[in-house]
Amino acid sequence: MALRLYAATSSQGKLRDFRTAAQAHSLAIDPLPVLAIIPAPEENGATFTANATLKAVYYSRFAPGILVLADDSGLEVDALNGAPGVRSARFAADSSLIDSPDANDNTDVWNNMILLQRLAGVPPAQRTARYRCVLVAARDGVALHTAEGAVEGLILDAPRGNGGFGYDPLFYLPALDRTMAELDLETKLSLSHRGRAIATLLPMLHA
Ligand code: IMP
Repeated sequence: MALRLYAATSSQGKLRDFRTAAQAHSLAIDPLPVLAIIPAPEENGATFTANATLKAVYYSRFAPGILVLADDSGLEVDALNGAPGVRSARFAADSSLIDSPDANDNTDVWNNMILLQRLAGVPPAQRTARYRCVLVAARDGVALHTAEGAVEGLILDAPRGNGGFGYDPLFYLPALDRTMAELDLETKLSLSHRGRAIATLLPMLHA
């Protein structure tokens, strides 16, 4: 029988990624049922690991006995000294371009716009970047397992592709000559930060 985990995320993009990656590993992932009625914790950690841990620990306290999965992920751009990093979801909000991030509005569009603006004039070879993802599984307020994944790429100067979410239309994979937004979900997960983190986490859960 598939091992069942509950994901503490309301992001449809992430949930879709988790579920697709998990299927290949006999792992079932459902959204944490109480997620909508619990106030979200403040993600004030300085690292992806700190934020993923605080979320997993916090939400698992509301779901006794259940293995809760939380992640933190984002984009690090070398020419921006690692920004937006842990502020990836709020890049445009931090720039006062929009009031607050909201998965249902145009946050991704604004974030991509700010990224292009910040990188204006930076030549292609210096537009190196990576996505990082840290996953933490916790039960009853205790973090049990932590796994990381990363994928290297380049930031284009114009978006390409309609798939994915977030910064995917600007995140170019030279080896495939595709952006993340031009890949089907299976291919994206075979090489993405999130897919790699899940692949690392799974053996820990089954152990
Ligand atoms: P989090 O919800 O704090 O983990 O924020 C993650 C943010 O990083 C998202 O809102 C996106 O802007 C960006 N991000 C993380 N993973 C991906 C991905 O797979 N594709 C595109 N953007 C991503």
